[in-house]
Amino acid sequence: MKYENKYHLDIHVHCDSGDPAKLDFLAETCRSRHTIICLSGGLRYGGHDFLPNDEVIAICKRYPDCFLPLAKLDLWETADPAEVYHYAEKGVKGFKCIYPYYEYDHDIYMPVYEAAAKCNLPLLFHTGNYRPNPADELYRRPVLKNMHPINLDRIARSFQSLKLVMAHMGTRIFQAEASQYLKMLPNLYADLGGCGQWLRMQPADLAEMFKPDTLECDCTMKNYRKLVLGSDAYVTYPQIIGEGADHYLRLLRRIGVPQDVIGDIMGKTVASWMGVELDTPE
Ligand SMILES: [Zn+2]
Repeated sequence: MKYENKYHLDIHVHCDSGDPAKLDFLAETCRSRHTIICLSGGLRYGGHDFLPNDEVIAICKRYPDCFLPLAKLDLWETADPAEVYHYAEKGVKGFKCIYPYYEYDHDIYMPVYEAAAKCNLPLLFHTGNYRPNPADELYRRPVLKNMHPINLDRIARSFQSLKLVMAHMGTRIFQAEASQYLKMLPNLYADLGGCGQWLRMQPADLAEMFKPDTLECDCTMKNYRKLVLGSDAYVTYPQIIGEGADHYLRLLRRIGVPQDVIGDIMGKTVASWMGVELDTPE
């Protein structure tokens, strides 16, 4: 489907409110920024309050020109691949994984990823830092080691048609390591979501991490094609959508990433996974 007047696709926005005025404002923000966003909610995010998947899907139906739904998968002591088929049937464009009971690559979660591969839908995984919350005492979770980027290695190898996105590229803690997996695994991508990521990331740091191991300078800059736009904005903090995109653009232009690669990063790559066609600015 072709989206008129939309140039960017932001895969990482949290649905933390169903307030109609806030949603209207969020949609206006998207339109003014020529951006489509993927909204994810889902329960059991520890101390955070997000809307259930079905409500997120209903909200996205009300704003078909700028919101696309992702369903949050429940990776707990058990995980049910039927959940994947259920939400695929309801038209979600991908899945969000965060806060797993075990490591992401635990045996019991593999059928869930297999189902996502069969549905040909991408997965967005939270990786890295997660601030402590009083609810952590109750669940004794999350634990960072379960959300370490190394846990995506097995998934990427086992389901090579499946597109995986490391949200936050491992955060500062695991960033350098995460970038190595990104370069090695063809179906692994990353966003720089979170103002602690895009705000602090300097061109020289990103250039060093994305440099091929065998070349000082790669003129094709193909590793940058593994980056996708993700702001980590919230319904209640819509301004992050524009701030994140601006930081991405400043960073990529300063490094000298070619315009067509920037276009892929800012939306075209993810759009192609979701059957979405973006517009090109005049
Ligand atoms: Zn996030």
